[in-house]
Amino acid sequence: MIEFSNICSKDCYYCGIRKSNHQAKRYNLSDEEILNAARFAYESNYGSVVLQGGELSGPAFTKRITNLVKGIKQLSGDKLGITLSVGEQTPEVYRQWFEAGAHRYLLRIESSDRDLYYRIHPQDDSHRFDQRLQALYDLKEAGYQLGTGVMIGLPFQTLEHLASDLLFMKALDIDMCGMGPYIEHADTPLWQYRGLLMPLEERFNLALKMIAVLRIMMKNINIASATALQAIDPIGREKALKIGANIIMPNITPGAYRNDYKLYENKPCTDEEAADCKNCLEARIHMSGNRIGYNEWGDSIHFKEKNQGC
Ligand code: SAH
Repeated sequence: MIEFSNICSKDCYYCGIRKSNHQAKRYNLSDEEILNAARFAYESNYGSVVLQGGELSGPAFTKRITNLVKGIKQLSGDKLGITLSVGEQTPEVYRQWFEAGAHRYLLRIESSDRDLYYRIHPQDDSHRFDQRLQALYDLKEAGYQLGTGVMIGLPFQTLEHLASDLLFMKALDIDMCGMGPYIEHADTPLWQYRGLLMPLEERFNLALKMIAVLRIMMKNINIASATALQAIDPIGREKALKIGANIIMPNITPGAYRNDYKLYENKPCTDEEAADCKNCLEARIHMSGNRIGYNEWGDSIHFKEKNQGC
């Protein structure tokens, strides 16, 4: 995971890098820094990289991502797989990035319930529920392996909402899922509702249950062990791997910037460098009884089987 920029045009009520948070120190990695991080991934035998950042749009941004995708393909002799997570874009932009070589996309629906969605987002043209939903269809149409997910333990969220979220993911026939506990951030509007939240530990347990149930519902999709789990429990991600998750995304953002990609409080590993994460995670994954698929893209089996008509 390369968190390449925290500059964002959106104003989501839960997120620490929302546009209106003037406390956030903004950064934007240079293309060279991003390519160096990807080179580190390649040389470390990681099979693929995720480029994630704040949500921007427009020709310059589109071109930048296209060039980065091509650059990563080039430096790795087409070996590194590429997942993008840069928000809602037009179908044409999704197609362009797919043609450049990206093959997976993460776009969380955040909540599949329209009313809850609007309680955690502004009601304006850049935060339309229908637009986010349409973006998921457009990504599928463009040929990507589709990843979505939700936050768990949001204020106003009920167990019925979460059950519907799981059914939503099943109905959308997703290939990948990333979901984790909501963690409040003091410089965001949702902070005022912190009194409504269930204790962190309960949110954590609920997130594990969501992962376990989704694994039963969708046996061959990729389920990521969200970083937010580790913000609550030091071995949170390992617990998720044991219970149904099969994907872990080590942070390879250069250390100097990590502290500024603060989506929520207490984000782990912000004082480390990419090499530290590699050693640390290797031990952690082995401890959880799993094997690391080095040099593999780690594509979703669900996607492959769907397309072979199995
Ligand atoms: N710009 C990209 C990536 C956003 S950040 C996009 O629009 O998809 C990645 C994810 O972090 C978000 O989708 C959201 O689910 C999660 N996130 C943001 N704030 C959070 C918080 N306070 N607690 C837990 N997760 C949060």
